[in-house]
Amino acid sequence: MRASIVVLPGDGIGPEVASAGVAVLRQVAERFGHEFTFAEHAIGGDAIDRFGDPLPVQTREALLAADAILLGAVGGPKWSDPNATVRPEQGLLAMRKLLGVFANVRPLKLHPRTAALSPLKPERTKGVDLVFIRELTGGIYFGAKTRSETDATDECRYTVEEIERVVRHAFELARTRKKKVTSVDKANVLETSRLWRSVATRVAADYPDVELEHQLVDSMAMHLLTRPADYDVIVTENMFGDILTDEASVLAGSLGLSPSASIGGPGAGVYEPIHGSAPDIAGQSLANPLGTILSAAMLLRHSLGLPDEAAVVEAAVDHVLEHGNLTRDLGGNATTHAVTRAVLDAC
Ligand code: ATP
Ligand code: MG
Repeated sequence: MRASIVVLPGDGIGPEVASAGVAVLRQVAERFGHEFTFAEHAIGGDAIDRFGDPLPVQTREALLAADAILLGAVGGPKWSDPNATVRPEQGLLAMRKLLGVFANVRPLKLHPRTAALSPLKPERTKGVDLVFIRELTGGIYFGAKTRSETDATDECRYTVEEIERVVRHAFELARTRKKKVTSVDKANVLETSRLWRSVATRVAADYPDVELEHQLVDSMAMHLLTRPADYDVIVTENMFGDILTDEASVLAGSLGLSPSASIGGPGAGVYEPIHGSAPDIAGQSLANPLGTILSAAMLLRHSLGLPDEAAVVEAAVDHVLEHGNLTRDLGGNATTHAVTRAVLDAC
């Protein structure tokens, strides 16, 4: 097949890990006889420096024409002056809006070797294989905000449509997995959560083969640490998802390993590692490229419809995790290049 892939290297270690992802996609294309074209564009701090805009018009046009988007990371201390009028992260928000993506998907699977780095005991992390789906377009982030000398408000709003589309996504995904959806809310306190719960219950009727469980966000935060292996697909609203996915990333042992996808809109999906731009290790070939390489595998599966190719990449990463010299964050001393090379050799 033919596919045009936009690559947004971004800031810090972003360019180093993005080029690892591209190298793997190129090799997959060659091995399976696909024609992938790659076009690099600016986003974030790099785009502010070069074009004065965290999402320049050339990037916007390329994003709208892309089949899929691979992103490195965005941001860094150079652009974090609180008084600055343009910030790198605005590029990410503008991109999500432009593409209409509404579901942020984060799988969490623990390999035995990396499970040793998890703060949880091995008997707790055994068999963990779950996916978070965080709603991206609604909730308290986007509600009306007020501020006076003496008080402040943040409005939290959700429409039935916003809830339904992301919950459906969760059920569709659960169908291909362990057939269980956990919908997380705070229905004992919040009206938006009561709406969320009623929509989830109604949607569940269309998926009799999938079990639905409701969970309050506070108990979810606890269960994530006490019995993470019990979960399959966890779907939740924007802010709960923000907090819970950070909690979940700690379970994985390293930020460098976890992939993510932002999908569901009419446009292309965006695939990126969950870690940030890691300015402390940028430019030194210390960055773990596996989160980006696994994001590239998600890109193959979800945006290009190539599950066999995705599985080859995932198996290669598993092989390297099992037998290879890893980067420093995983206790090894291999460079970004060496780990990427090892994945390419195993593909
Ligand atoms: P952001 O605000 O952009 O999300 P952050 O403050 O959450 O950034 P990261 O940039 O993700 O932080 O980095 C947190 C720590 O994890 C840093 O010490 C960084 O070096 C380390 N780290 C992040 N990503 C990787 C990676 N791919 N490989 C190795 N170490 C990493
Ligand atoms: Mg962060």
